[in-house]
Amino acid sequence: MQSPDKEAVKETVRQPPQHAPLVQFPVVAGQLQIGGQPLTRLADRIGRTPFYAYGREQLSARVKSLREALPAGIELHYAMKANPMPAVVGHMARLVDGIDVASGGELQVALDAGADPREISFAGPGKSELELRQALAAGILINIESFREVTLLARLSAETGYAARVAVRVNPDFELKSSGMKMGGGPKQFGVDAEQVPDLLAQIGQAGLGFEGFHLFAGSQNLRPEAIIEAQQKSFELALRLAESAPAPVRTLNLGGGFGIPYFPGEQRLDLAPIGQNLAALQARAKQELGGTRLVIELGRYLVGEAGVYVCRVVDRKVSRGQVYLVTDGGLHHHLAASGNFGQVIRKNYPLAIGNRMDAEMEPGVSVVGPLCTPLDLLGERMSLPHAEPGDLVVVFQSGAYGVSASPQNFLSHPAAAEVLV
Ligand SMILES: *Cc1c(COP(=O)(O)O)cnc(C)c1O
Repeated sequence: MQSPDKEAVKETVRQPPQHAPLVQFPVVAGQLQIGGQPLTRLADRIGRTPFYAYGREQLSARVKSLREALPAGIELHYAMKANPMPAVVGHMARLVDGIDVASGGELQVALDAGADPREISFAGPGKSELELRQALAAGILINIESFREVTLLARLSAETGYAARVAVRVNPDFELKSSGMKMGGGPKQFGVDAEQVPDLLAQIGQAGLGFEGFHLFAGSQNLRPEAIIEAQQKSFELALRLAESAPAPVRTLNLGGGFGIPYFPGEQRLDLAPIGQNLAALQARAKQELGGTRLVIELGRYLVGEAGVYVCRVVDRKVSRGQVYLVTDGGLHHHLAASGNFGQVIRKNYPLAIGNRMDAEMEPGVSVVGPLCTPLDLLGERMSLPHAEPGDLVVVFQSGAYGVSASPQNFLSHPAAAEVLV
């Protein structure tokens, strides 16, 4: 699953690259503060480890700073698959302009959270007939990703009498450069190839579905503003061309997102200023050339990733042939991404800390592992960490997105992780 990169290892030894500073959670008297309280107190309040904790303050601050960096009028959607905890979705629903769901299950959570159905959109390949029926009944916007969905929606809409609101998810004829995870361009299971979209639009028109716009999503976890700008620019041009075949005016143009956050040493925070400038230019063009289309960006990871931590307790401290292992009660089964097994090609350490000993003396070469019977259950490999003993609390930063819901919780039948919004 991972290939050792010898060059990269050598490089690390010569000059350890620095991580972008993690200042979102303050430290008081050696204790990381989450939700305004010391970590040990929060752990006592929750009553068990491991847990994920998400900060309301950090979530709100992130949306606020993003709004400040983007031009007014750009609509901000939360892609809730990044963190579907109902309390988080409820908090986000009050801050953003819409929620993007990827299943019937997520739709229920979004509606429970109080999201306005007019501002919910549903994307994903393989939508079932049941899910499409739910979506019609809820009155949300459905991002069509295949010819089958047109036929099915036409039939379901006729059967139920519920009007269908649709957008077309386009598989673009370009790729998002240097994206962590490409989700558009070339052959893909997502969306409909740009070349086929004129045909699809004709069928949407014939079927009498309510066409509202286009949706383009090129990829995820990108830290290069110029790549994001290029993707948004090309998405806009493509939408302009496709608009000529549309059966109705393009009211919404969802330009995707893909904004990344720094996980690993050497990675810096995304510079939003040039992205904001580009969006302002596109907004002006949308007004001129598309007649007042609303521009939407949809973000998951960027909105919630830095606002969350995963916390587990040291159960044992072992020395094996000179190397220190902190064995914890949490690991891969709760946090697949931190173990390096959720899409990473080369395993790198997430930022870790000992949350109740933030100012203890550092110990080099410490590995943090979980309780599973597999060497893949690794949270940190040969890191410098404050000296820790059983009972201490290991913190994995940048854990607010693609955490527990993206992990194989049942693997080895350990207890599930708790989740709190504080
Ligand atoms: C997953 C997904 C997102 C969110 O991606 P992030 O990288 O978390 O911002 C947005 N839109 C679509 C269609 C997705 O599938």
